[in-house]
Amino acid sequence: MKSDIEIARAAHKQPISDIAARLGLGAADILPYGHDKAKITHDAIRAQADRPQGRLILVTAINPTPAGEGKTTTTVGLGDGLNRIGARATVCIREASLGPNFGMKGGAAGGGMAQIVPMEDMNLHFTGDFHAVTSAHNLLAAMIDNHIHWGNELRIDPRRVTWRRVMDMNDRALRQNVIALGGPANGVPRESGFDITVASEVMAILCLASDLADLQARLGRIVIGQNADRQPVTARDIGADGAMTVLLRDALQPNLVQTLENNPALVHGGPFANIAHGCNSVIATRTALALSDYVVTEAGFGADLGAEKFLDIKCRLAGLSPDAVVVVATVRALKMNGGVARADLGAENVEALRAGCANLGRHIENMRGYGLPVVVAINHFTTDTEAEIAALHDYCRAHGVEAVLCRHWELGGAGAEDLARTVVAMTAERGAYTPLYPDEMPLWDKIETICKRIYRAARVDAAPGVRARLEEWQAAGHGHLPVCIAKTQYSFSADPAALGAPEGFAIPLREVRLAAGAGFVVAICGDIMTMPGLPREPAALRIGLDAEGQVQGLF
Ligand code: ADP
Ligand code: MG
Repeated sequence: MKSDIEIARAAHKQPISDIAARLGLGAADILPYGHDKAKITHDAIRAQADRPQGRLILVTAINPTPAGEGKTTTTVGLGDGLNRIGARATVCIREASLGPNFGMKGGAAGGGMAQIVPMEDMNLHFTGDFHAVTSAHNLLAAMIDNHIHWGNELRIDPRRVTWRRVMDMNDRALRQNVIALGGPANGVPRESGFDITVASEVMAILCLASDLADLQARLGRIVIGQNADRQPVTARDIGADGAMTVLLRDALQPNLVQTLENNPALVHGGPFANIAHGCNSVIATRTALALSDYVVTEAGFGADLGAEKFLDIKCRLAGLSPDAVVVVATVRALKMNGGVARADLGAENVEALRAGCANLGRHIENMRGYGLPVVVAINHFTTDTEAEIAALHDYCRAHGVEAVLCRHWELGGAGAEDLARTVVAMTAERGAYTPLYPDEMPLWDKIETICKRIYRAARVDAAPGVRARLEEWQAAGHGHLPVCIAKTQYSFSADPAALGAPEGFAIPLREVRLAAGAGFVVAICGDIMTMPGLPREPAALRIGLDAEGQVQGLF
C-alpha cells in the first residue's frame, strides 16, 4: 500500500467548480482559492437557509489509543460509500492545525483510499482561516494592552487579564512570559503567555456562529479579564468586536474541497477537542445539510468527549438534530483497551479483544441515551484475524447493535457500501435526539451529570473556589450555558492509563473558565495543554522539498 501522501498526489481531482455544481452551486456562489479549493459565499449560504435539511450522521469512536481508530478515515469512507450507492452525501470535517504537523507525523485528512484532497494544503495554510483567527485573537490582545497603556479608562486589573496571545505553532517557550518590558514606552508589564490557535476562544466562536451578526455578537461577549472591582471586562468594552469581525469575514465562509472519489467535502474550523467542543463549524454543517441528502461529520476524541460535546454543545446551540451515530472501533484499539501492549498488537488475542469490548459497550449505551440509532463501524486493518472480527460481531450482536465491517482504508467508498446501506436504512426516520441535560439545569449539576452518566464517575472532586465561581456565573446570568469538559481522551476517567470501562473513580475538577463568547463553561479536569511542545525529534527534521518542489516527509 502506498503512503497517504502518495495516494493523495495520484488523485484525479476535478475542478472545484464541478464539485460545486454537484451541490447545485454556480460560479457566483463560490470563491475559488486556486483550482481545487473554494469558499462558499455568504450570499449563497443565505440563499440556502430555508431549504429542507438532509440527514445528519455523526462519526465518533471508542476511546483513542496509539493504535489508531480512524474516525476521519471512516467519515470520508462513509461519505464516498453513500455517494456510491446513490445517496447524495457531503462530508464535514475540521481543518488541521499547522503546528502539530511539524511535531509528530499524522495528517487530518483521512487515510489510505479514504482521504480528502488537496491534503498538503489542508494540513498547512489551506485558505488562511487559521491565520485570520490568529490575527483576530491577537488584535484583541493588542487592544487590551494598548487600552491599559493609554490611561486604562476601564480600570482593567493587569494582573487579572485572562486573554492571552495565540499562534499556530508548537512552541513551549512561549507558554508563560512577561510582556511589555523595557520601560514606559512599551506598555505596562504583566504576566501572560501564548496558546496554540486552535485553543483560541475565537476559533470556538467561528465554529458556533450562525452568521456574521452572530459572530460579532459572540466576539463582543468574550470576557478578557476583570477590572479593579473584579467585574468582567468584555471585548465589546474594549471596542474590538467590529474589527475582529472584519478580520474573520472571509474565514466564516466554509471551504469546499473533494474526496479522492470526487465527492464534496466541507472542511471548516478546527476548535480544540479538550477546552473547546472539537467539531467543524455550524455554518458548514448547516450549509451541507441544505445542499445534500446526507451529511457525515466527525467529532474529536472518543464518544465520551467528542460526541458528548457535539450533541450537548454544538447541536444544542445550533438547533441541529442528528439522525444516527456511527461508533468506529478497531480490533487493535479494542485489544489495547483489553490490556495488550502496543508492541504485541500484531498477534491474535481474542480474549483481550473481548475484554476491551467493555469500552465499546459503554459508548454504545451512552449514545443510545441520546435517543439516537447506533451502528458500529469495524474499521478493518489488514492485521485483523477472522476470529477477532467474529468475536467483535458476537459482542455487538449480544448487545443488540449492528456492526459492519468496513474496508474503506483499503478500497475507498466501495469498502464502506455496507455501512452506507445500513446508515440509509437507520435514518429512514428522523432521529429523536434528546440532550443529556436541560439548559436550565445549574452549571454544577451539568458537570456532575456528564461525569456520572457519561464517564460513570462516582463523584466530582472540585478544587476550592470552583463551586463559588460557578455560582457567581450562575447569578450573573450564564447558568443556561452548556459545559465543556477538558480531560484526558484516553480513558472514561481522568487517568489516561485506566483503559476499558473503569468504575468508581473520582473526577478531579481543577478549574473552571467562562467562554461567554463561544457560549459554554469549560471545566478543566486534570492537566490540559493549550500550547503543545515539539518532541525531541520533531517531524520538521525530515520535512523538505524534493527536486520537483514537492513536499517530502510531512505524512
Ligand atoms: P482519527 O480521526 O480517529 O484521529 P484518522 O482517520 O485520522 O483517525 O486515522 C489515523 C491514522 O490511522 C491515519 O494515518 C490513517 O491513515 C490510519 N488508518 C486509519 N484507518 C486505517 C486502516 N483501516 N488501516 C490502516 N491504517 C489506517
Ligand atoms: Mg480525525
